[in-house]
Amino acid sequence: MRLSVLPAFGDNYIWVLRDGGPALLVDPGDAAPVLAAAADDGLEPAAILLTHHHPDHCGGVPALLERWPALPVFAPDDARIDLDCERVGEGDTLRLLGHDARVMAVPGHTSSHVAYLVDDHVFCGDTLFSLGCGRMFEGTAAQMHDSLQRLAALPGHTQVCCGHEYTLANARFATEVEPGNAALAARLVEAMDQRAAGRPTLPSTMASERACNPFLRCDMPQVRAAAARQLGHAPADGVETFAALRGWKDVFRA
Ligand SMILES: [Zn+2]
Repeated sequence: MRLSVLPAFGDNYIWVLRDGGPALLVDPGDAAPVLAAAADDGLEPAAILLTHHHPDHCGGVPALLERWPALPVFAPDDARIDLDCERVGEGDTLRLLGHDARVMAVPGHTSSHVAYLVDDHVFCGDTLFSLGCGRMFEGTAAQMHDSLQRLAALPGHTQVCCGHEYTLANARFATEVEPGNAALAARLVEAMDQRAAGRPTLPSTMASERACNPFLRCDMPQVRAAAARQLGHAPADGVETFAALRGWKDVFRA
């Protein structure tokens, strides 16, 4: 399948996945870029997949349903997504455009957040970012850590399709945590080149995230040591390491 992306707002990405015909749209927070692509490039949506209820991920759906009234919409079971849609949850498999789309519950950023695995693409919304992760608005550190661990267990070649372009800002924090990580240093150079050329830094690969993203590396000695410096004591486990990193990142200014 062919992956492309429509930028929206300041730093959101609407993902577009297709075989050549109609496309799956992930998290159309704004209808305008989709309508423009329909007019300019003949983009024709086949279905909408929503990862979570935040307006910058769902807000464009009503206008898209006005344009394409029969368009199926898939969303987590959350009353805050007030749309006529098919509700999905952990373990569901959808059959879309002849491909299986597996649903993973990944709570933490929000309580009902889901990710969609379509072939070797994972659409992870605001749970996993390149070199970072989402803020924990509704979940616990244990939930978010578990969600990230299950995403990290996907095959290394999995294309990581995140909801926002946050990679460079995340890289500054990741480098603070692991200044000696050579893979991270190389990824930062790559991301700077991509942004300088006006390109997205995404998708990333899960192998790259496992090598570079501190939030997926809570069991690494150097990441535990960085967390220990924040905590003032050695973290008991990966969850405490994760919680220390997340709290540190919340107040981090590069
Ligand atoms: Zn969000």
